[in-house]
Amino acid sequence: MGKVYLTGAGPGDIELMTVKALRVVKEADVIIYDRLANPDILEEAKDGCEFVYVGKEDGRHIMPQDEINEVIYQNALKYENVVRLKGGDPFVFGRGGEEALYLQKRDIKFEIIPGITSAISAPAYAGIPVTHRGVAVSFRVVTGHESPNKKVSQIPWDNFKTDDTIVFLMGLHNLAKICKKLMEIGKNADYPVAVISRGTTKDQSVVVGTLGTIVLKAKDVPTPALIVVGKVVLLRDQLKWFEGNA
Ligand code: SAH
Repeated sequence: MGKVYLTGAGPGDIELMTVKALRVVKEADVIIYDRLANPDILEEAKDGCEFVYVGKEDGRHIMPQDEINEVIYQNALKYENVVRLKGGDPFVFGRGGEEALYLQKRDIKFEIIPGITSAISAPAYAGIPVTHRGVAVSFRVVTGHESPNKKVSQIPWDNFKTDDTIVFLMGLHNLAKICKKLMEIGKNADYPVAVISRGTTKDQSVVVGTLGTIVLKAKDVPTPALIVVGKVVLLRDQLKWFEGNA
């Protein structure tokens, strides 16, 4: 029986992968990977390594999670070194916890290799620090997948009244509803918002606007993209460094 490495691939820029992730990729007998993991990483694998694609798009799964769990398990019965490569960090909306539980129940050994999450690194490449002295003392990373119109919400919208930074993942399709909800709880229409698409890659694009304007401005933005809400967005004017320099 093999061991499964639940591995964060980082947000896109291949150099944002950890040294440990690179080592297990080089040693892997099989790599089970997502759409969000940069496929260039697979070129680091040894000759004869198997590749299994279990693509995911924006929280809408092409292969259902149960099936992915089973694919990982079956590969662990067959191979010694199994790498489950996931975009960003495996435990940040990556369902890595579910995969680990599935393996744990079946007595398969596993290791978690954290990765650099897009939630922090895409803003960083956009020149937006998620915290900043005197501007934001904390940040939260929230699923944007759940519609803000849902009657019984798991998201504590009323807690979002402060100036802490909010990063929404998987939320582009709900952008209009998210902005509306944030204005309903009391944020002004001129409150800063950024949408960052394909962050840390050569295709990165950033749209800056406000709760009132961002929906129109970001209407053609390609996925994957995340939403940053907060006054830290204004720092981009001075801290923007990546686009055009990549
Ligand atoms: N585990 C991943 C997140 C998985 S959820 C991580 O830690 O980054 C998938 C969502 O992440 C996407 O819908 C998008 O909102 C965001 N995302 C992932 N990669 C991104 C990138 N390069 N640029 C912008 N957003 C990204």
